[in-house]
Amino acid sequence: MMNQKSTAEHVTPALQVAQCTVCQGFSFPANVPGCRHCGSPELKAVTCDQPVQLLNVITVHAELAAGLTVPAIIGEVELCPGVIEEVRVDAENEAEVPPGTWLTPTWSDDLDGGAWVFRSVFVKDFTREVNAE
Ligand SMILES: [Zn+2]
Repeated sequence: MMNQKSTAEHVTPALQVAQCTVCQGFSFPANVPGCRHCGSPELKAVTCDQPVQLLNVITVHAELAAGLTVPAIIGEVELCPGVIEEVRVDAENEAEVPPGTWLTPTWSDDLDGGAWVFRSVFVKDFTREVNAE
């Protein structure tokens, strides 16, 4: 068994979006060839590691995508301004994560190479900090 702590290769991935340096608009995924808003290829990767609020939630009973274990709880979140994505929510059932729940992305390693799952987090008086990167 590999000791993952000693290898520099195993770095927890960061959830990123692309920000356009021309119009400042955000696009997802971070490796899009051009800005969704103006088409410019001048993009930089921005890390989204802050809690996001759940906008909507549904339970999917059909295997819509390969590797999706059902029933799956799929939520809609605004990853960053203007970028609304459907994400996997890690919860027992829909009732646990009503719209408005704060979620944080957690990288989940699996046999298919891993995926982002969003877990509920308790946020008290949360204010979005500016990431001075
Ligand atoms: Zn743009």
